[in-house]
Amino acid sequence: MKKEVRKAVIAGNWKMNMTPSQAKEAVAATAKLVEGKSGCDVVLCVPFVDIASAIEAAKGTNVKIGAQNVHFEKKGAFTGEVSADMLLETGAEYVIVGHSERRQYFGETDETVNKRAKAALDAGLFVILCLGEVLEQRQAGITAEIISMQTKLDLAGITAEQMKKVIIAYEPVWAIGTGLTATPEQADEACGIIRGVIAELYSAELAEATVIQYGGSMNDGNAAELLSKVNVDGGLIGGASLVPEKFSKIVDAAQ
Ligand code: PEP
Repeated sequence: MKKEVRKAVIAGNWKMNMTPSQAKEAVAATAKLVEGKSGCDVVLCVPFVDIASAIEAAKGTNVKIGAQNVHFEKKGAFTGEVSADMLLETGAEYVIVGHSERRQYFGETDETVNKRAKAALDAGLFVILCLGEVLEQRQAGITAEIISMQTKLDLAGITAEQMKKVIIAYEPVWAIGTGLTATPEQADEACGIIRGVIAELYSAELAEATVIQYGGSMNDGNAAELLSKVNVDGGLIGGASLVPEKFSKIVDAAQ
């Protein structure tokens, strides 16, 4: 495996936190702390209503802004939803799709995740595609089957060219927001399995070039060890991304 061909991506997922004014302050504080840290890409995925102030605060810095969801239709009677073109015009560059909280609480399926990913890619956004097993699946010894199937279903119809803008976030559901972290070996193994499926679906070369993050209670204390693994190319960080000092230490660990 050639980790050196990939640039790590450290992305924050603020979830439903921060008002626009708080977002402005937090992005500015984060940007100051990660200034000049060019060894990884730094992204903050913020609530829709925070995007404008986040982009304003990130202007001229190395922090990029993303959203946390996108609808798959271009426009129409879809109350409460936001299209990929709308996101693009705000200046957002990234969007998370398939986060486990959306699968768990908002009825997302692999089919809708795939449609959202395609819509975002068609518009030119980078997609952070989340997948991962629940605790019962890990305990039943079927993690490899589950994440392989999710990878295939979620990437269905996405072209090799579009894959240049896809980042996969392997997020074991039992580790998200729980304080439980996968061991570096578990994270490496799962990211390696996903990379193997991408090689099968596309090519070995494309698999080597694909950024695969780990997410699940990554913090300033455990990031260095997780990120040292050959298949772990960054992190998707929830709780710790809300605290600029903690998030920036994870960025430091990825340098
Ligand atoms: C996430 O929201 O994707 C996540 C990994 O959250 P946390 O870091 O809080 O576990």
